[in-house]
Amino acid sequence: MNLVIDGMAVVVAKGATVLDAARGIGINIPTMCHLGGYAHFTSCMLCVVKDRESGRLIPSCSAPATDGMVIETDSDEVRHARSSALDLLLSEHVGDCEAPCRITCPAHMNIPRMIRQIGAGRMRDAIETVKADIPMPAVLGRVCPAPCEKACRRGRYDTPLAICLLKRYAADADLSGPSSFHPVCRHASGRKVAIVGAGPAGLAAAYYLALAGHACTIIDEKDEAGGGLRYGVSESILPRGVLAGEVEGIRRLGVEFRMNTRVGRDADMGLLRMEFHAIVLAPGKQDAQSAAGWGVAVADDRIVADQHSLATSDTMVFAGGEAVQHGRMAVRAAAHGKIMAIAVDQYLAGGTVTGPVRRFESRMGRLLEGEIIDFMKEAGQRARTAPAGGTAAGLSMDEAAMESARCMHCDCRKADICRLRELAGEYGASQKHFNVEGRRRFERITTHPDVVYEPGKCTKCGICVRITERAGEKPGLAFTGRGFESVVGVPFGDSLGAGLQTTAGECVRRCPTGALAFKHERHEGPGE
Ligand code: SF4
Ligand code: SF4
Ligand code: SF4
Repeated sequence: MNLVIDGMAVVVAKGATVLDAARGIGINIPTMCHLGGYAHFTSCMLCVVKDRESGRLIPSCSAPATDGMVIETDSDEVRHARSSALDLLLSEHVGDCEAPCRITCPAHMNIPRMIRQIGAGRMRDAIETVKADIPMPAVLGRVCPAPCEKACRRGRYDTPLAICLLKRYAADADLSGPSSFHPVCRHASGRKVAIVGAGPAGLAAAYYLALAGHACTIIDEKDEAGGGLRYGVSESILPRGVLAGEVEGIRRLGVEFRMNTRVGRDADMGLLRMEFHAIVLAPGKQDAQSAAGWGVAVADDRIVADQHSLATSDTMVFAGGEAVQHGRMAVRAAAHGKIMAIAVDQYLAGGTVTGPVRRFESRMGRLLEGEIIDFMKEAGQRARTAPAGGTAAGLSMDEAAMESARCMHCDCRKADICRLRELAGEYGASQKHFNVEGRRRFERITTHPDVVYEPGKCTKCGICVRITERAGEKPGLAFTGRGFESVVGVPFGDSLGAGLQTTAGECVRRCPTGALAFKHERHEGPGE
């Protein structure tokens, strides 16, 4: 068969689909319900393309490639049709990509994942999860007012998780262990970044910039690093050894410290501009006169920076922390540090400076009556764990395990790999639950030892049904009910554990959403 796809001629054997033909010449068409090697089953209409001759939009995964076809795969019309197909799927989708605790954490730390890793005793993975967003967790575990705990869903049932103490437990275990976590930095970029200020924003910026391969120099007027953490928090709350340990971890990444150096006196901004490829300003709270001295736009006593990228009026200068936004929360300053690192990295790579990429988020809004019972299915009933040795001592290993068992796993365990989420972001799809009362109920089925099934996230693609069918798994999974009301489930009312025995892993891996997920982190980051 000879056809033309996006202006390129392609020859395929009889029986090939338009999707096969496009993929053969490297054209990527998105799919959700398509499963290579299995017969076509349904169409989610994500793979639509335009057949120029008939003028119709056709599903490429099932349309046979025929002689003389002229196909468009990426026109506005095609993209619009895919976006509408996604809107439709999302309109009946019930689930939160991210847990309320994570959404509320200024550093956006993956709290539920950390908790699952602590619960499984995988402390190396837990500290890696923490440090992906918070480079000084032992420090923050002592000074953070924990806004995440105010948002913790468990608080609606009894009391919130002790998230901050759990994070501190992971951090202390790492610092006191035989070899603390030492992330691998990317290859040296040959680019140099000056970071003015050795407080939480500057230290965090240096940590993530060093990971990205840039040579970092922190410049600070004091003789020791820490900024407000060292000079504004008492030793009884934050022992200096803890701060020094985490600063040392940053130094070990190759970050240089020029202490006792005040920009404007010993180091001039003009000289920094010549010596470095980019400058991060994190000097802490400013008065009107000092703010004006940085050579970038200011408003009163604050440096003006874009709220997403923290870029200033000077393209090579980025600013964050209290110099930009007043408020003494160290975690917010640390979050600014990471944002600046991402933006500086984009700037140094010569790309568009946007700051962190915002991902699509499915949100189901407030819980309907009784839904919390489904969230409690995997959570222990114990009350919040108070450290036996007092808050200053922190949680013991057993206490951390007990506390982690209270988490309700409010996030989606496939949030990083969900195809629906990825495509919704790519096509700018939107989810409109016009009113919470009108949405479907959230349900979580936990009767399988390894797998959790959340029917509200099922797109009815039928992939799992086809897998269990071909494998001869009995009873397997099937569509139960009729028409619009049909759902995937185990026939004859059997439990999920009975339905999925040999094919559970395959079904989870192939399910394009978080509807079928492993309970215990197997698809979540390191240690799979
Ligand atoms: S299934 Fe995908 S879109 Fe739905 S909540 Fe999970 S990650 Fe988000
Ligand atoms: S129960 Fe767990 S996942 Fe849910 S909000 Fe609290 S800490 Fe986060
Ligand atoms: S549960 Fe089955 S039918 Fe539903 S989205 Fe996952 S693979 Fe598809």
